[in-house]
Amino acid sequence: MLNVYVDKLSERVKYTFEFVFSHLIITDYRLIDKFDDFTSAEGFKIVYANRKIVDYPLIYAFDFLFDSDSDKMIDVGCDTVDSVKVLFPHNCTDSIMSFDMFAAIFYMISRYEEYSQYSSSLFDEHGRYLHVNSTAYREKFMDSPVVHIWCAMLEDKLKQLFPQIVISHPKYEFIPTIDVDNAYKHINKGAVRVWGGVAKSLLHLDFKLFNEKMSVIFRHGKDPYDVFDELVGLQKKYDICFRFFFLMGDYGGNDKACPPSDKKFRKLIRDVHENAKVGIHPSYASNDDISLLPKEKKLLEDVIGAPVTMSRQHFLRFNVRNTFSNLLNNGIKEDYSMGYAEIVGFRAGVCVPYNFFDLGRNIVTDLVIYPLSVMDATLFRYMKLNDVEAFDEIRKIIEVTKKYNGTFIPLWHNSSLVDNSKRKLFVKMIEAALN
Ligand SMILES: [Zn+2]
Repeated sequence: MLNVYVDKLSERVKYTFEFVFSHLIITDYRLIDKFDDFTSAEGFKIVYANRKIVDYPLIYAFDFLFDSDSDKMIDVGCDTVDSVKVLFPHNCTDSIMSFDMFAAIFYMISRYEEYSQYSSSLFDEHGRYLHVNSTAYREKFMDSPVVHIWCAMLEDKLKQLFPQIVISHPKYEFIPTIDVDNAYKHINKGAVRVWGGVAKSLLHLDFKLFNEKMSVIFRHGKDPYDVFDELVGLQKKYDICFRFFFLMGDYGGNDKACPPSDKKFRKLIRDVHENAKVGIHPSYASNDDISLLPKEKKLLEDVIGAPVTMSRQHFLRFNVRNTFSNLLNNGIKEDYSMGYAEIVGFRAGVCVPYNFFDLGRNIVTDLVIYPLSVMDATLFRYMKLNDVEAFDEIRKIIEVTKKYNGTFIPLWHNSSLVDNSKRKLFVKMIEAALN
């Protein structure tokens, strides 16, 4: 048993230590805030405080985890220790770690900077926090799951201090996910949208597109976005299970899904639900109008006849101040949005699922955040990589995720699998993730 003395059992301390010692470097531990209990406890002992106490090993603590005010801007500093970027560095020579890793971990996974830096200039036109404002981007460690690396540093220290200590790790996992913004490219969108699309292709003299539309509409050719049978085939071949997120919002602006009343679309969702896991893809508009999420979720639940507890924001459009609490209020248990659309990297510095800490209420919640590993649109639309470069990025992320026993969660759209080269890349990614 690892006994940890702290002056105060704050919510942030309890949350962070639970994450570290129950999910990353797993060992029996106990937080103790009564010094007499600590001295009489059996087992290994460390102190997390701002001063040396007797001669117990100390991990120097800033006040950050003992605070509860999340509106304060925090200067986290940044230093390099053994080639690793660290936050909350200090000069306390009594400490066994040269930075307050627990404060640093809380800062990263709670997305404290996104919460406390609440100025519209820090967000893009979709209301998304701009990655260029983040500490990870500024200090150039976005490509590292730093939380895991910091924990590995602590593990080394603990093993030096207590050679008998037993520490285990989570198992590497692979969770492939598909966002369905549009189940079909040409059909089942209502007559106005279908024939409007045909007219537009003619107006633009795009005869290839016109012929494709004619073939799908009149000759019952397969719609290019309808790759769901192939995906089910991949599930069987590789013994994996996709998680599909369906957009059920009304047409408009950045929401272009098939109408949820469409029979073919509804049957498709039911078929997918029989073979895989299904979640909601809250519309772009739902992030501005909180009354939309329960409606969209109910539409999906009515189609599949089961509760919906998984979610990923369309456009990865979320705001840590309100999106996740809105999801929680609507019965969502798992969110898969934690990533940036524009760049690849570890937004929260972590690659395992973790409970969302609500900074506004200063409490841990039941919502589990599944950090996104890589998105197709990031590689192709934003970073403009070719297939070889894209696979190189994917391979690097898979390798580092495996190294730190993380969970690899790629996001692909059905609409990205329309050409052969992208399908081959997708299969190559699955094989790399599984090998
Ligand atoms: Zn989407």
